[in-house]
Amino acid sequence: MDLCHAAGLASLLQDPARVLTHPPIVEQLSRDFYWYSPVLRKQLDGKVGDLVVQPVSAAEVRDVLRYCHAYDIPVTARGAGTGNYGQAVPLHGGVVLDLARMDSIEQISAEGHAVCEPGVRLGVLENEARKVGWELRCYPSTIIKASLGGFLAGGSGGIGSVAHGNLRDYQTVRSLEVVTMEPEPRIVRHEGESVHDILHAWGTNGIVTRIWLALAPAVEWAQCAVACDTFDTAFDFSERIAADPFWTKRLVTPFEWPIPSFFTPVRQYAPRDKALIFLMIAESERAGLEATARDAGGEVTYSGKYLGLRTRPLLSDYTWNHTTLWAMRSDEAYTYLQCAFDPVTVRQQMRRLKERFGSELLFHMEFWKAGDGRMIPGAIPVVYYTTEERLNEMISFCREIGVFVANPHVNNVEGGGRYRSDNVQLLAKQRYDPKGLLNPGKMVTFKPHEFAR
Ligand code: FAD
Repeated sequence: MDLCHAAGLASLLQDPARVLTHPPIVEQLSRDFYWYSPVLRKQLDGKVGDLVVQPVSAAEVRDVLRYCHAYDIPVTARGAGTGNYGQAVPLHGGVVLDLARMDSIEQISAEGHAVCEPGVRLGVLENEARKVGWELRCYPSTIIKASLGGFLAGGSGGIGSVAHGNLRDYQTVRSLEVVTMEPEPRIVRHEGESVHDILHAWGTNGIVTRIWLALAPAVEWAQCAVACDTFDTAFDFSERIAADPFWTKRLVTPFEWPIPSFFTPVRQYAPRDKALIFLMIAESERAGLEATARDAGGEVTYSGKYLGLRTRPLLSDYTWNHTTLWAMRSDEAYTYLQCAFDPVTVRQQMRRLKERFGSELLFHMEFWKAGDGRMIPGAIPVVYYTTEERLNEMISFCREIGVFVANPHVNNVEGGGRYRSDNVQLLAKQRYDPKGLLNPGKMVTFKPHEFAR
């Protein structure tokens, strides 16, 4: 990209200083957490945009996209850059569209709907919502840093999913507005089912500029850690709590030893050689949970009221994909998979994986409620990486025995496992980005020459 475009783009913004060209800054804002995957690390190291544009309104986004369309400049949206699959890494240079400054919360209604710009940090939204009696239905363990737009476009679920499902379920995303990449970009509203055209499309088919999100009534939470002699006991107890509607829960996460040994700041809650469970449960149910845990053979190693996102200990900091981060800190050879076990045959599936891969694959489960109401034993197992062939062997074996894998070692929407089989994301790309300039290379079934006029 010719850097004379920096001046052209700057002329479209109220403040030209919101076009950044300083190479270290551009490099920093071109990266995400792709390095979690040894496979993606090789593919994406060194990929950078040419410059960064920081719009503050949908009107500025529209002006930038109009300009980029005219000059065939690729545009890669960026929230906070905490994605794990290199979603926000530009493969073909161009503009990194940093949406962090579009971070206002327009409204949190009495009925529990938030209307926000995409750059709002999830932690800010959670705190504001709790002030008026609401909270996020689900959020990633990166809540403090991650943006709402990035979560919708690149994430899936997290803390809270055990009760409220993933982002795509239960109409959590009520509506959103996207700016299209056309000669005259439009601002299009997607409501109801049509939000799925845009969700988890990695910013390949529109730039999200406004979001209507359904919230849940706020709960006074507590955190507990329970140690069990075996992982089987920990899993049985966790499954029971997750599946029983009696319990008001936000997190039910069992770990196989030695995963708990990686959690340095909370090692005191992790007795040696034992499986560990981290839970968030309603404060009013905490005593009952402790008693139930003891009856099930568990030892309660920590129990306390949850005091907020910036307080310690924050057990969610060790769950979802943070678990992998702690493992990698302990040994760089660790990486991960993202799986969904069959709720009926999960025990046989886990046994077969253990027989085949032993300590190369360590169980870290995360339960979530599927859209049809079933409680899914999801997992983000920690994997000891040796070669790509061995990793692919694990993925193939999982699939062979009926374990779903959303492969986090590929850099395209289709390969990641959240691509819609009804092709709605692709169809939206054909409509909204016929030249294929939005995050090019990330939706591999799209063929630009068939649509560009
Ligand atoms: P980014 O990484 O900036 O972007 C993600 C994708 O969205 C990119 O393709 C980008 O182009 C696109 N995008 C960003 N903004 C827009 C927009 N306005 N319009 C269109 N496209 C846009 N994910 C989970 O789902 N659950 C977890 O529990 C979880 N835990 C994690 C733990 C760790 C330690 C790490 C490193 C990652 C984790 N993730 C998890 C992944 C990631 O943190 C979340 O998905 C997060 O919500 C992404 O938000 P972000 O603002 O960082 O998005």
